[in-house]
Amino acid sequence: MVPALFVYDEAFLDYEFHPDHPFNPKRLKATYDLAKGLGLLQADRVVSPEAASSELLSLAHSPHYIDLVQRLSQTGKKTHGIERLGLGTDDNPVFAGMHEAASLAVGGTIKAAQELVNGSAQRVLNLAGGLHHAGRGHASGFCIYNDLVVAMRFIQRETGWRILYVDTDAHHGDGVQDAFYDDPQVFVLSLHESGQFLFPGTGSVEEIGTGDGQGTTLNVPLAPATDDDSWLEAFSTIVPRVMERFQPDIVVSQHGCDSHYRDPLADLCASTRLYDAVPRLLSQWVDAYANGRWLATGGGGYQVLSVVPRAWTILWAQMSRQAIAPDTAIPEEWLAAWQPESVTQLPRGLFDDPRDYPRIRDHHRMLAANRATLKEIAARFPAYGFDSPA
Ligand SMILES: [Zn+2]
Repeated sequence: MVPALFVYDEAFLDYEFHPDHPFNPKRLKATYDLAKGLGLLQADRVVSPEAASSELLSLAHSPHYIDLVQRLSQTGKKTHGIERLGLGTDDNPVFAGMHEAASLAVGGTIKAAQELVNGSAQRVLNLAGGLHHAGRGHASGFCIYNDLVVAMRFIQRETGWRILYVDTDAHHGDGVQDAFYDDPQVFVLSLHESGQFLFPGTGSVEEIGTGDGQGTTLNVPLAPATDDDSWLEAFSTIVPRVMERFQPDIVVSQHGCDSHYRDPLADLCASTRLYDAVPRLLSQWVDAYANGRWLATGGGGYQVLSVVPRAWTILWAQMSRQAIAPDTAIPEEWLAAWQPESVTQLPRGLFDDPRDYPRIRDHHRMLAANRATLKEIAARFPAYGFDSPA
């Protein structure tokens, strides 16, 4: 069995609303090039996806919605009233070929799920996936189809496995939460900037699931300016205890890197240290508590060249158990190819230089707010012992 697989296809780059849209697929190619340039991505690790069929898409979406996306995709022109379904808006403008592009992103996560279900790989990464905002009958937050929901329902259908979903994007994973809100077989855990300050506004500690699914949704809404240490304190307090108690057969994780301090769309203050620690910890916990099965996706990330390729190359290195030195330099060939595409000077190191890190104002207030949130979560989930030392 190969240790880890990387799903990639140049056709992923067709998921482009328009050239000036913040969700820029160029980051996928830049990441692929960087991982290869650093010798971290061998050809036999790369697998290519097929577009997800309408039958698969219907695991997450209504036939009416799939049909509408297909029709809009043919003309690339918006029609009357579609804003109601989140399409033809500033966030999710209509473009020709959108159905094909979005189906391929879903197909990438399905490909990852198939490898895991077949037992041909234990860890698979699809950076084109992680489109966690799309709902059953609507687009939202740059997400047309929800690859995560499709793939998790596919895994459930094929295996009956219990799934732990861990969402580390700066935004709440509302589309995934909604899909499994009453399902006790899927534990949906999301750490994100509080919805009081950021899109989509949901993801409070009160949202804990409903019916049979009560107690299998857990939200950690973080204060603006949350730094690596405070983020990791929450992550390390909650995730291993949930895994120990819930006993998932597989972990599905979303790795949006818009929590970075330079990201323009959120207000968190993470650095590449977080993007190294999160998969390093998950890697240990997946082996200890989830039979070693791990499907990971990308997600948000709007510093397209200066942050995303580094964050996701580090993610891949950790997933595939390849060591990377803290002083790893970005290859000259990569900089020569991508610097002309960037208005700012691209970093020379794989990891952020700590000297560039901004001083956080109100650091104490941020820390106190996050600790208060952890206390509230501990009170809502008494059986997990979140308030006792590990
Ligand atoms: Zn995001």
